[in-house]
Amino acid sequence: MSSPSPELFDRIVNLTKRRGFVYPSAEIYGGFRSTYDYGPVGVLLLRNVKDAWWRSMVQLRGDVVGLDASILSPPQVWEASGHLANFTDPLVDCTTCHQRFRLDKLEDPERCPNCGAVGAFTEPRQFNLMFKTQAGPVEDAAAVAYLRPETAQGMFINFKNVVDTTRVRPPFGIAQIGKSFRNEITPGQFVFRTREFEQMEMEYFVPPADAQRWYEYWCTERYQWYLDLGIPEDLLRLRPHESDELSHYSSGTSDVEFLFPWGWDELEGIANRGDYDLTQHAEHSGERLEWYDQAANERWVPHVIEPAAGATRTAMAFLMAAYDEEEVRGETRVVLRFHPRIAPYKVAVLPLSKKPELSGPAQELVAELRRSFVCDYDETQSIGRRYRRQDELGTPYCVTYDFDSLTDGAVTVRERDSMEQERVPLADLAGVLHERLA
Ligand code: ATP
Repeated sequence: MSSPSPELFDRIVNLTKRRGFVYPSAEIYGGFRSTYDYGPVGVLLLRNVKDAWWRSMVQLRGDVVGLDASILSPPQVWEASGHLANFTDPLVDCTTCHQRFRLDKLEDPERCPNCGAVGAFTEPRQFNLMFKTQAGPVEDAAAVAYLRPETAQGMFINFKNVVDTTRVRPPFGIAQIGKSFRNEITPGQFVFRTREFEQMEMEYFVPPADAQRWYEYWCTERYQWYLDLGIPEDLLRLRPHESDELSHYSSGTSDVEFLFPWGWDELEGIANRGDYDLTQHAEHSGERLEWYDQAANERWVPHVIEPAAGATRTAMAFLMAAYDEEEVRGETRVVLRFHPRIAPYKVAVLPLSKKPELSGPAQELVAELRRSFVCDYDETQSIGRRYRRQDELGTPYCVTYDFDSLTDGAVTVRERDSMEQERVPLADLAGVLHERLA
């Protein structure tokens, strides 16, 4: 498997619009640059990505608890975290065409990628990426608030609350999924880099002496998560940062990278953040943010390992890895080979005809299956076209209810990848689907 070419990438983006995964936002008003809305199918895909993350990071573990912190936050949080001073990108303007670029993302720092002018850039300026707004009716300095640029600070500022109100003890984690906002200078590449996006982050608090071991543990765990959900190994790598890429407080960071059409790019960063965050918030807030080990009568500031992933970006990687085209009887079949856990719909119920004698029992069947699986139901067009449509949605199983079903009490189950069909008695259907979709 290789990374899709730019033309293939365009076809994938086209499919996402055509099948209701992703729409450009405010399209009836001409669109709003680099913002997207997740349609009826995309919302299922995105939810499955987030659910898979939550299941592996929280549900299946005894040492991680959840949080949902507010998006609006006061300047003090960002003062302490360092974002007000440092969350900046170097920005240059082209004096010929007046376009703006992020200096560190330019292929050639001398040449304008828009008009080709050489040596026409202004000196770089540092541009803060946070969205500033005001809370309340008065527009003065006291009303300034920020939309969070990451979910992580919610975990640090609630460290004391979580320790005081639950039974956690290090090593333990606090996990959160939610929207973050960054005024990116050069958004683009579809939903890869947008100004509004969703993150899945976890802060894992450990005894200082164990930090390196836990950092290595989380690098392995997180890399494996993508493989387990069907991203092929040759499209995925774990890349340790060079020492000049590391932030001053981090003693180790690795990125999980995916091979996008434009090359390797980040899906997730795993960082050993030391005691930087808790220490900063303790200093700025005056609260003690530390662990008291009663048995040893010792106080210490936990070190933090942070796996920080993007939900929207990861959903896009799953889409790209799943996309496949093949020749079937002289026609191109487009199929999304999603892992069952990621597939938007798990099962589609398709009555062979929309005559009430078939659609009636087929609707009863889908109502029953919906109790266990996210299902689609479709009775329009020929059965062949309906199969193709489900292939493009990535639905693992189609269940066809035909005239024989009325007498033999069985249905045809078609598997997406092999297109093989088999007859399954209705009484066994739910069990068979449960087993295969597990
Ligand atoms: P990049 O270098 O791509 O700007 P980053 O290193 O600043 O990303 P982090 O702050 O580590 O990103 O955020 C963690 C994750 O959040 C990223 O790995 C990515 O998946 C996601 N993310 C960050 N910025 C964006 C964005 N503008 N649009 C979509 N996802 C994003």
